[in-house]
Amino acid sequence: MIERGGGYITRMAAVSPSPLVDAFGRRISYVRLSVTDRCDLRCTYCMSEHQTFLPRKDLLTWEEMLRLSRFLIGRGVDRLRITGGEPLVRKGVLDFLRELGTEVHAGRLNELTLTTNGTLLKDAVPALAEAGIRRINVSCDTLKPDVYRRVTRGGDLSKVLDGIEAAQAAGIKVKLNVVALQQDNRAELHDIITFAHKRGIGVSLIETMPLGDEIAGREAQFVSLKDVLGDLQSFWQVVPAAETTGGPARYYRVAETGGLLGLITPLSHNFCDTCNRVRITCTGRLYMCLGQDDQVDLREPLRADATDAGLSAALDTALALKPRRHDFFIASDALPEHDGQRIHRPARTMSLTGG
Ligand code: SAM
Ligand code: SF4
Repeated sequence: MIERGGGYITRMAAVSPSPLVDAFGRRISYVRLSVTDRCDLRCTYCMSEHQTFLPRKDLLTWEEMLRLSRFLIGRGVDRLRITGGEPLVRKGVLDFLRELGTEVHAGRLNELTLTTNGTLLKDAVPALAEAGIRRINVSCDTLKPDVYRRVTRGGDLSKVLDGIEAAQAAGIKVKLNVVALQQDNRAELHDIITFAHKRGIGVSLIETMPLGDEIAGREAQFVSLKDVLGDLQSFWQVVPAAETTGGPARYYRVAETGGLLGLITPLSHNFCDTCNRVRITCTGRLYMCLGQDDQVDLREPLRADATDAGLSAALDTALALKPRRHDFFIASDALPEHDGQRIHRPARTMSLTGG
């Protein structure tokens, strides 16, 4: 079943074990799989204070997630990022990661990674290492405990810092995801980057994205990363670096610290031509593009057809729908050029689609 702009249409596609290549010749090798929409935090830019969550029966079971992941690996996906909501809050996630780890250890999956808020990281580290996870992204927008508590609506920063330390001690490389917020952390970004680079931690700054309709005050928190880069260049020499991921990050090297700085500006179109990724929600909905609502339901074929033929057909259909580029916006004065395209604000939040 495919949902396009609200209505459902059904389409058949040929069953094929071939790699996942879309209509524009882009090979999909990277999947972000959200394992839950729930979270122990309520970051102001991500969720509303009284967020309602999906009924548990709607979520893919761990068995279904594993079958889906192995199927995708069979179709050439070689990087899998587990995300959420907060992935570490779902019971059974460490066993799931250990199972996926067998794909890493067998050489069928090049990389298994995780995006986490870090609050439950410390105790999870041994299982992550066992699963062959070599690097993780930890999201943390401030190093001030009171600001952290406010931005996350109740979070304890010390748990995140302990988690990062434990991960590094176990040899897991950490990258810090920091959402740039005009009011809450713009003036602190220099200190956060200094802190991270001193510890060998790369930083990705993320521009607030216009996902979800119910989040108040987002426009006031928006700051363009172009302006942030200007701020940082008043302290440091920040020079373009060669690193690239096929995603929305542009990389820079801070000459004075030697550390890496990614600027993630999903409002720009700079990465669509090389986009190699799709996202799957915890209910098995496949989104081909972060900026579009088109989606394909994988849960129904997973549940209805034990042979994987339905899954294969659904994926082929999805590939045909992956758009050439996205088009969304936050506020008219923050708009980058958008080439006269349809302007659009997806209704879902990052906690549903995964980061
Ligand atoms: N809970 C985990 C975490 O926070 O890392 C994983 C899921 S979270 C949705 C993934 C990433 O999305 C985080 O780095 C978070 O800061 C980012 N994020 C959430 N809402 C966002 C928004 N509206 N704009 C930009 N980034 C957002
Ligand atoms: Fe939770 Fe991550 Fe969203 Fe914060 S950004 S509310 S930690 S899912």
